[in-house]
Formats: sequence, structure tokens, C-alpha cells
Amino acid sequence: MSEDGLLDRRLLERLLPALVRLEDGFVALPAAEPAPFDEVAAGAVLDEVADRLRDNYPYFHPLYAGQMLKPPHPLARAAYALAMWINPNNHALDGGRASSALEKEAVAEIARMFGWEDALGHLCGGGTMANLEALWVAGRLHPGKAIVASAQSHYTHRRISDVLGLEYRSIATDARGRMDPVALRAQLERGDVGTVVTTMGTTATGSVDPLPEVLRLRDEFGFRVHADAAYGGYFTLVSGLEPEAREAFDAIGRADSIVIDPHKHGLQPYGCGCVLFRDPSVAALYRHDSPYTYFSSDDLHLGEISLECSRAGASAVALWATQRLLPLVRDGALASGLHAGLRAARDLHARLDADARFITPFAPQLDIVVWAVEAPSVSHASQLARAIFAAAEKRGLYLAVAELPLAFFPNLPPAMRADRETIACLRSVLMKPEHVAWIERIYALLDQATTELRFAL
Ligand SMILES: *Cc1c(COP(=O)(O)O)cnc(C)c1O
Repeated sequence: MSEDGLLDRRLLERLLPALVRLEDGFVALPAAEPAPFDEVAAGAVLDEVADRLRDNYPYFHPLYAGQMLKPPHPLARAAYALAMWINPNNHALDGGRASSALEKEAVAEIARMFGWEDALGHLCGGGTMANLEALWVAGRLHPGKAIVASAQSHYTHRRISDVLGLEYRSIATDARGRMDPVALRAQLERGDVGTVVTTMGTTATGSVDPLPEVLRLRDEFGFRVHADAAYGGYFTLVSGLEPEAREAFDAIGRADSIVIDPHKHGLQPYGCGCVLFRDPSVAALYRHDSPYTYFSSDDLHLGEISLECSRAGASAVALWATQRLLPLVRDGALASGLHAGLRAARDLHARLDADARFITPFAPQLDIVVWAVEAPSVSHASQLARAIFAAAEKRGLYLAVAELPLAFFPNLPPAMRADRETIACLRSVLMKPEHVAWIERIYALLDQATTELRFAL
């Protein structure tokens, strides 16, 4: 534990002088008293909030190794808080001039990470909104044609297609959870596919779709390619990916649109997704008039190129600040944090692989590890996985559970009865750099939880 405690307080003391500095920018105004409120009561409520917030998993701690959750970078948190005193709205320059400029710069840097110099893009509330915009544009350009994505793609694509009134079809995956190009070709031969969504790091297992093969099929059939890199996008900065993932990330700039979630691996508070379009002329599809907003400037108002209206300018401020400190460069500080997660995942996978009580499918492509539990049947193994999940939590280790197709486990022992089509597995997202130093400890707790259960059942 650091001397400050478990919850990182760094930069809290820098917040006050920075606030004074911000206020100095408005000294020309006549003095005005802020509206009064009962500070004693507010302070008491704040304590009550702290108490209520204790009812959470410890996302900030390395023993939380379950879902895609972690706190933002201390600088992102401080910059966001500072922006709160202004509370800018990035819908229009009228609502947030400085934060709109920061958003344009930060988004241009993300686009450059994928090799795009004059892309169109902006921040969104999250990956769902970002994907909605990408598929909305795709549907406008290929009206009446279908959207396809792999069976392991995020469930949001089916729902978004439904919202947009577009047909959605699911493409089978291979045994490693990646879109199967043979199954994709069969769909393309029907002649009605407008857009192929490739997932650059699936949410369940971190599998990376074979984008180079999808692009070869695009040459042959002609369709739009959308890369959903909400989870995995930042791994493009990491050297040491396995070769197929590397090739896929190297091809991402040839997609037509990309979604990436700074609130997942970009160290941002929730409320920060990003959509990018390679061809900036799609801006024309967004064209609309507003009777209220865009009057203070002829420069681009972000609301003119986004579907959401009001949006937190503070998100852009936090992102810009984080990228200023940790630039999006190959093998830079941000990338080395992701690389640590990759090493943690490989370490955990190797330990599980050597342990006869567990069955691992494929090796992880990113920092997500899944594993099944050895048992006489698939339903028994699924029960055990859920029981180990609960027993681990009692010991202070927080994992997750994922229901996966049996096809991911060609190596199931012959004696294991396949009485279900999917198997509940344990899942661990090792997205904090600290995880790599904690795998030994994590494994010891998993071992204890498993041992305890196998004696109990
Ligand atoms: C998280 C995720 C989404 C959804 O994004 P939100 O930010 O949760 O709205 C979409 N696609 C993938 C691959 C994801 O990992």
C-alpha cells in the first residue's frame, strides 16, 4: 500500500493552484458571489456518498482481475475535475470553445495512431454511441444492405442494426473466436452485404478478427469495413503482439471507419468513446441546421458532425491532458502498460495450461484469459466455474465468468460429457499494468478457491 492509501490521491493538491490559475483567466469580470448552499450539510452528504460508494468491487486493486474496469489516470481525473468548474458542452463552440479545440487535437492524435492524417472524427458517450454512428454512416452509404459481424462481436451491433432498421447477420468464428473468412465469403456471395464489422479484440476473449483477409475479400466483393477496436485499439502501439494480431492492427488504417474507447484502455473516466472515418466527406451526411446553437463562430462545431447533442467537454479535456503526458507513440509509456497486461495474460495462461484441473482454449491474443474447469460433464464444469468465481471472491480475488461455445475447446477430455453447447468459463481481464507483478498471488488464491471446492463437491 502506498503511504497515501489504496485510492490514488496524487495531483489532488495540485488541483487548487490549477483552479486559481483557471480563475485568473476571468479576472476582468466584476466580482460576483457564487450562489450559497449549506456547506455543512453538503459535507455530511459527501461522507454519506463515500459510505455508499464502498459497496463496489475494488476495481483499482490488482486483485480485481474480472471485467474491463479500472480507474482513470490520476491526471485524467484531475483535468476532468478542473474542467467541471467550467462544465463545458462540446456540442458547439458556443458551449465549449477551449474544450472543443482540445477534442479536435486529441482526436487527430488518435487518428494519427492509425495512420490517418485527415480523418473525420469526434468523441462520443462511449463505444456504443461510436459504433452507432459508424453503422449509421455505413447504412446511409449502403442503404438496404446488410451489416455482418462475427458471432463473438459485441452484442451492440445487432441492437444498433435493429435501431437503424438494417438487416444484421452473424458470421461464424473459428476455434479461436475470430471471424471465419470462409463463413464470411459464403455470406458475401449472397450479394447483399453492405458492411462487415471486424472486431479488433472481442469483449469475451480479446480475439482479433483477421482484418487482412477481410480486406482481400473487400477487393473482390466491394463492401464497407468497420473496425470495432473499442477494446483493443490501443494495442496497435504495442510491440510483441503475436504475429496475426500484429498483422490485423497493421491493416486497421485500411478500414473505412474505426471505433476506439478511451474509457477502456485509454485511461479515461466513463463517457469517452471515439469514432473515426477515413473519408472526411461523410461529414455531409450529418448536415443539419440548428436554430439555437452554432452562431458564435464559422469554425466547425463538433455538434455538426455528431449525432449526440450535449456532450461532456470535460471528457475531451481529460483525454487531451492524458495524451499530453502519455503520447500515443509505439512502445511509449501507455504502450508499456498494455504490454505488461499482455505479459500478465501469457503468464496466467501458461500456469493454467500446466494445471490439470483447468482446460485452456487458445493462447490469449491480448490481455484477456479464459479457462474451463475439468469435470465429468460440461454442465458440471459450468457449475464449478461459477462456484470457483464465488469462492475466489470470498478470498478477495475478483474474476469474471463467460459463457463460451464448446467449439473453443477442441481439447476437452474425451471422458467429459458434452451435455451443453456452451460452457461457463472463468474469465480474467488483466488490464492494469500492476497485474503482471500479482499473477503469482492471483494464482495462489485461484488455487485455494479451486481446492476448497473440489473437496466440498
Ligand atoms: C465495450 C465494447 C463495446 C461497447 O462500448 P461501450 O463503451 O461499453 O458503450 C463495443 N464493442 C466492443 C468490442 C467493446 O469491447
